[in-house]
Amino acid sequence: MSSVKETIHVLLERPQRVELTVINLDDPSCDRLLQLLCATRDDELSCEDVFACLDEYVDCLLNRSQMMNIPLVEHHLSLCADCRDELRALQRALTLAAADD
Ligand SMILES: [Zn+2]
Repeated sequence: MSSVKETIHVLLERPQRVELTVINLDDPSCDRLLQLLCATRDDELSCEDVFACLDEYVDCLLNRSQMMNIPLVEHHLSLCADCRDELRALQRALTLAAADD
């Protein structure tokens, strides 16, 4: 039975056999990944949250009114292409609907 101290010593002396998996990212991908990691917040909205309030968000933009979580929605939109697409689709639909009137 070896002591903890001996075990640590053995571990530290042991040659590195761990093979690291390296993902080759080009610089822009790396930058983007870092930006996403750095931009992560504790109070993130999920895509479902954003989808659920997207119409309210567009309404706020159109009427220049305020809702509680605009910064959170915009934060999510800045990071999420899916929700940006959804927002654009919604805005396009509203523009078409307005043109019909
Ligand atoms: Zn999203």
